[in-house]
Amino acid sequence: MLVMKFGGTSVESAAAIDRAAKIVQSRLPQQPVVVVSAMAKITDQLLAMGQHAGSGQRDRALELSRTVRERHYNTAGELLGTGIFTQFHAELEAEFDALDELLRGIAAVGELTPRTTDNVLSFGERLSSKIVTQAFSARGIDAYLVDARECIITDATHTRAVPMFDITNPRLQAKMKPLLTKNLVPVMGGFIGSTRDGITTTVGRGGSDFSAAIVGAALDAERIEIWTDVDGMMTTDPGLCSDARRIKVISFEEAAELAYFGAKVLHPATLLPAIQKNIPVYVLNSRNPKCEGTRIIAHAPSCRNAFKAIAAKKRITIVDVVAARMLGAHGFLKAIFDAFDRHRCAVDVVSTSEVSVSLTVDSNEAIPNLAADLAKIADVKYEGRKAIVCLVGENIRGTSGIAARVFTALGDINVRMISQGASEINLTFVINEDDVPEAVRRLHSAFFSDLDPEVFS
Ligand code: ASP
Ligand code: MG
Repeated sequence: MLVMKFGGTSVESAAAIDRAAKIVQSRLPQQPVVVVSAMAKITDQLLAMGQHAGSGQRDRALELSRTVRERHYNTAGELLGTGIFTQFHAELEAEFDALDELLRGIAAVGELTPRTTDNVLSFGERLSSKIVTQAFSARGIDAYLVDARECIITDATHTRAVPMFDITNPRLQAKMKPLLTKNLVPVMGGFIGSTRDGITTTVGRGGSDFSAAIVGAALDAERIEIWTDVDGMMTTDPGLCSDARRIKVISFEEAAELAYFGAKVLHPATLLPAIQKNIPVYVLNSRNPKCEGTRIIAHAPSCRNAFKAIAAKKRITIVDVVAARMLGAHGFLKAIFDAFDRHRCAVDVVSTSEVSVSLTVDSNEAIPNLAADLAKIADVKYEGRKAIVCLVGENIRGTSGIAARVFTALGDINVRMISQGASEINLTFVINEDDVPEAVRRLHSAFFSDLDPEVFS
């Protein structure tokens, strides 16, 4: 069997759901289990409704709920035609009435708790999975709606609940296997689960990929397909470099490094349950289903190029900390990191020498206060408008001369910090934000001109 996960943009409209149905139809012999996100932007809107209700803006919450209701009715109507929609309408209506009831309750209490947030957010996937099931059935697919809350059992850490695999896996098997045996196509909402006591939870934003990986791992899927609206992972941002090419295959570790530096396609950490079981994950484009996408696998195949991709992250500030009197003393780094911790600043790249440390953080308002705090123990300077550029590839490990080639390619572009992490699969440096387009173009032409056809499109 295989798992097919359709993200928000792949179920955002009647046209999108119709495309998804055709894609599922093409896979029927492989016994798909379908996992769906909420329609695009709905989770954000549900969150806004909850927040409006919680802050006393009841009417604003209900108004937003009305527009969301409308969008779902219109989508379902368009997909099903008046005949079927008339029967189905009552079911959707009941859901939206329950949502409005909940919003009124939140407004009455005047507080939005994490537990209630999960309840509000769950409507996105509850509704999309219902509509998708109906639409699939109307198109001749024997779709069967599965309530994720009967299968994905989590702890009670609301808004980022942790699945309990010892309960979830047997539940998924018990629910899905008989359906597959009957050649039915289970359709389940991603992102949501429930505690053992039946309280609705969510597994964190973007969590439908995680749900898909959990289902795939529990059922020993042959593969997991993540259907989205791009052709897959690219060698670099096509907006920065028109020569960017699709990466056909990438290791889990490489994909994880890229996600960290801003690749928006998906967060590979959520795929871990599948990767651990050696199940390949494909990122595919529901608008261009013929494209092979990107295959993410546990171990990278051999590749004759040094790197798989170049990522850049802008809006970075460098903090330079210099303390000559710390020469030979210990505890300096601890004191510095304690200050970052106090100001809740996450550090990305660190370079050190005996008496100085340079660190990068995402530019934010806390930096002046952080610098003032650090000034008590050292001389501090900070400078914004920087960018982290990160070259990723398993081949960095064990190839000599790579750094020389990178810095030769960069030529006269000024490099402020350099770091190569313990994972040995990324080479990272910091430059001025304005130099990013030129740096990426130079690196891309130096390292991605003669591409390994097994790995790149
Ligand atoms: N709908 C949820 C979100 O927007 C989960 C997902 O789509 O992955 O975060
Ligand atoms: Mg997503």
